[in-house]
Amino acid sequence: MKRKLIAANWKMNILRDEAEILVNSIVDSVNFPLECDVMIAPPYTCLDIVRKCIVNTDIELGAQDVFWEDKGAYTGEISPSMLIDAGCEWVILGHSERRAVIGESDNVIEKKLKKALRKDLKVILCIGETESQRIQNRVSEILGKQLTGVLGEIESEYSEKIAIAYEPVWAIGTGVNAKSEQILEAHSIINDNLIELFEKDAHNIRILYGGSVKENNIKEIVSIKNVDGALVGGASLESVSFKRIIENSGVC
Ligand code: PEP
Repeated sequence: MKRKLIAANWKMNILRDEAEILVNSIVDSVNFPLECDVMIAPPYTCLDIVRKCIVNTDIELGAQDVFWEDKGAYTGEISPSMLIDAGCEWVILGHSERRAVIGESDNVIEKKLKKALRKDLKVILCIGETESQRIQNRVSEILGKQLTGVLGEIESEYSEKIAIAYEPVWAIGTGVNAKSEQILEAHSIINDNLIELFEKDAHNIRILYGGSVKENNIKEIVSIKNVDGALVGGASLESVSFKRIIENSGVC
């Protein structure tokens, strides 16, 4: 069985002093060694603070986005090498908020993912359908399109550095998580697509669920077939909740 991965996405939510308090409180409350992999993705401005606080732990650091070039005249962008320099091992790509608010296409996400992998970052690629796409019975089509659109040209050797986060857009930040049958179905679709794309190496890729994960639903979610962890937004901003999510994910 794959080791579960619990990833925290703090989004654009926290100032440096608050980040220090939050991460210290998480570090002080969880038991090391952790029974699952844990990654925290703070805003760029808090990467150094969080890095300092997790330095002697097995918690890993991630960023919430990256650019597809590594250096040059790209005002405002952050490159893969800069993230590595800041201590990141991970980057989240293709979050539905970036797709919807910034207008990121699969093509843009593909460029970012290729560069990030080649620069040795691990990537969580977010995919998921909107509510209207689900109502129109297009879940399988949308997930397949997002996966092949971004991963279609990625060599199998990179499979160990990729995780997929299935995040139905309608479940993000709403307090309404997808039902177990919906997660089971979506993760099985994703698994089938990954096998098409990566053949035997597909099993290296962890498939996370994201969307209103809380301490009271994580146990059931990670017990579903093909669920290898969770991407957690709101509940990762509260240390007790996040600690309980970690504790309830490790051993299933
Ligand atoms: C997310 O933004 O990736 C997310 C899953 O958010 P939340 O847990 O708050 O639904």
